[in-house]
This record gives sequence, C-alpha cells and structure tokens, in this order.
Amino acid sequence: MEAVRQRTVNAPVEFAGVGLHSGADCRVVVRAAPADHGIFFRCMDAKGHENLIAASPDNVILTDHGTSISNGEGASVATVEHLMAALALVGVDNALIDVFGPETPILDGSAALFVGGISDAGTRVQAAARRELIIDETLSVCDGDRAIIVEPFDGFSLDVAIEFEDCLIGRQSLSLHLDQPCDKARLARSRTFCRLREVESLRNAGLVRGGSLENSIVVDGDRLLNPDALRDPEEFVLHKGLDLLGDLYLLGAPIRGSIRAAKPGHALNTRFALKLARHFGLSMAEEDQDELRATA
Ligand SMILES: [Zn+2]
Repeated sequence: MEAVRQRTVNAPVEFAGVGLHSGADCRVVVRAAPADHGIFFRCMDAKGHENLIAASPDNVILTDHGTSISNGEGASVATVEHLMAALALVGVDNALIDVFGPETPILDGSAALFVGGISDAGTRVQAAARRELIIDETLSVCDGDRAIIVEPFDGFSLDVAIEFEDCLIGRQSLSLHLDQPCDKARLARSRTFCRLREVESLRNAGLVRGGSLENSIVVDGDRLLNPDALRDPEEFVLHKGLDLLGDLYLLGAPIRGSIRAAKPGHALNTRFALKLARHFGLSMAEEDQDELRATA
C-alpha cells in the first residue's frame, strides 16, 4: 500500500471575528507551509519578540475553558483547539497560521466554518509521507473520575462520555470512527457550551467576554437559552470530542488507535497529549518545559 502523504493548504484562508474569551476582534490566516514543517502560529502583534509558536503540547500554558499556547518569549495565542481540530479533520499536516489579536476567532462556536473554509481553499499533497502516531501499547491518564485511555487499533476511534447535573446535558456517551466522513461532520458542527450559572463567574475571571448565543450553547438546567434547537441530540458530548481532537492534534500527527475518554477537559487532554509526546519521543525535556512555563 502506498504511504499517505502530507498535505498543506492550496491558498491562504482567512477567518475573522470576535474572540470568545477576550471579546477582541481577532483574525487568523492559515497559510501553506513546506513538508515536515508542522503547524506553527505566528503572532503578528508580538512586536519585538520571537513571534513563532510551534503547535505542541509542550507549549500549552493555560487550559481554563480553552487551550492557550506560548513560545515562552512573550508571544501567546489562546483558544487554539477548534482550529487545530479543523486541521485534524481536513488532514492538514503543515501550516503557518498568522494571528492578529490574542486568540483565534470563535466564529459559530464549532469547527464547521474552519473546516468549510479550509476545504474550499483545498489542500495539496506534498512529497513527504505523513507521520502517524501508531499506538503500540495502552497509555492512560486520570484525575479522579476523569480519564483518557488509548489502546492499539487499526483506525482512529473516539469514545467519549460526559456527565453534567443539568438535565438538558445529563449523561451522554458516543462512539465515533474518525475515518468516517459522517462522524467527522458531526464533530465539526458541534458548538461550545456553558451553563448559565457559570457565565457570571467566568466573566469575572476575564473569560467568555465575547461569548453570545451566536457562538455558544447556553444551558440553564433543563432549558436551552438559544432560540434555535441543538444541531445534534448529542451536541454536548460531540463538542467534548472535538476539543479532545484539537488538543491532541497539537502533537502534529494523527493517532492510529482507539481512545476512550470519560469527562475529558482541556487540562486532562493536555496531560494526555504530553504523555503521548513523551512516549513517541516528541517532547522536550521536562526542565525545558518548566523554564518555558516560568517565563510565560
Ligand atoms: Zn471547544
């Protein structure tokens, strides 16, 4: 069988809109990059600093209601997970992403517009073979009743379970095969969500300042505050799967394995990504990471 080759975008693709957490006008331009380049963010506002940040779990500095990365030299970008998930879903290995503003735009709260824009621009095949992270043994992380585990499997499957006390969300679980276009589309369309009673404390913490019913599902107990219906009866658990996919794509290569996640979130997703990075020899030394976090 011929090896699958790397891909990049055919033409620059731009996305603009409000940032979920900052409320600022944000813009990103996804540009083509050569084979074996990987995915890098370039912070166009980081004047006088090194402005390139490698998409890597080593560079994650914050996981509070979103994933932020930094190069430890003054440049950072927040809320990278939906764009990273879109790159995973379309199969883009190499890209240089110019970022104007503190974070990526939230758009409609899902990855659908990122996927649509990148797909419309098209991707082109490159000379180098795509690297895959082929899971050869069981690896896991846990935190109380939260856990993520991956096992060897010839494909990429994702089982996710969540449990919230709000009756509208409640317990949901699903099983996806990410080689299947219909499962990819369900993930891409799922929107970010929050509970009404969290909104005030999140705002006080400087988060969700750009949040609205246009870019987030808001739940109050058994009530949906958005005027439109859910896009999918399992939209909440799908979105947790989307976030996990985006956080794991910071590894820079697709996973071949079967993942099961119970109550995942950005912090646990990132711990899991770091574990895989170490397993596959992709991670920098721990002391370098500590230094990076200390200077961030
Ligand atoms: Zn999300």
